[in-house]
Amino acid sequence: MRPPLRLAGLTKHYGGSAVVDGFDLELEPGRCHGLLGPNGAGKTTTLRLALGLIQADAGTVELLGHPMPARARLGRQKVGVVPQVDSLDPDFTVRENLQTYGRYFGLSGREIEARIPDLLDFAGLAGKADAPILNLSGGMKRRLTLARALVNDPDLIFLDEPTTGLDPQARHLIWQGLRRLIGQGKTLLLTTHFMDEAERLCDVISVMDRGRVIARGSPRELIASHIEPHVVEVFGDGLAEWKACAGDLCHRCETAGETLFCYTDAPDKVVAHLEGRPALRYLHRPANLEDVFLKLTGRDLRD
Ligand code: ADP
Repeated sequence: MRPPLRLAGLTKHYGGSAVVDGFDLELEPGRCHGLLGPNGAGKTTTLRLALGLIQADAGTVELLGHPMPARARLGRQKVGVVPQVDSLDPDFTVRENLQTYGRYFGLSGREIEARIPDLLDFAGLAGKADAPILNLSGGMKRRLTLARALVNDPDLIFLDEPTTGLDPQARHLIWQGLRRLIGQGKTLLLTTHFMDEAERLCDVISVMDRGRVIARGSPRELIASHIEPHVVEVFGDGLAEWKACAGDLCHRCETAGETLFCYTDAPDKVVAHLEGRPALRYLHRPANLEDVFLKLTGRDLRD
């Protein structure tokens, strides 16, 4: 089957430097693909290139079989977009927002009206069709933005940080919705700064930095191939002194703020040593995607 999105050698320069630099990507239909990277890595620019909103300096984009941006209108016909910042019209009701958006895709008022109950049901907004946008909570607006992205029954959905700024309850509702979409066979391309979100939802993840892919695989593959399986986080009084022993007890140590991260495949040795230091506190846990991300992209702030 044809990939819903194919990017080959994609390159874009701003101010003389490449912010997307020879980027290749082929999405598999019916899968959720994550695009992770620190701020400024080039994720949003990649999404904008993929949607044909900006022109690449080199490389090609094929969106649902259409070359972009040459056939942008056709390419985007069966694509849904959840942008980073909600762009709902605050002067309109929920229904009017869906109606306006649906018309961009050439849908008739009657066609959109027929879809509204399902869309609102999906978004947990049943009964809110006539509510003004100003009366909705942040979580409701985000869910409406997701519902709006589905108005044209898309095959491929771009989600740019869909849960940023939401509380845990609202995030879980969005995740439930996204899993339903994956279950229906939709293809998702998701950017997020939440590694737990990527780990839960994504089948394949591309880690991006400085415009390039620096690692790709399923969450499990990335963890297995880039990082030791166990982490012991150590903090508390006497850490500075204990650090001197840590190097002999584990494979790799990293300091972040007041915590020492000990990466190892033999955590018992580290934990046994810590048992003799009651002033130190520790947390032993399996390595996760965030550990991989920090190892690959570093712990320094990017903006
Ligand atoms: P991310 O989404 O990963 O945070 P972006 O794609 O937004 O990264 O940005 C990548 C880099 O390109 C950043 O350094 C950003 O400042 C720069 N950039 C993005 N858009 C523009 C633009 N329209 N003009 C100039 N520089 C831009």
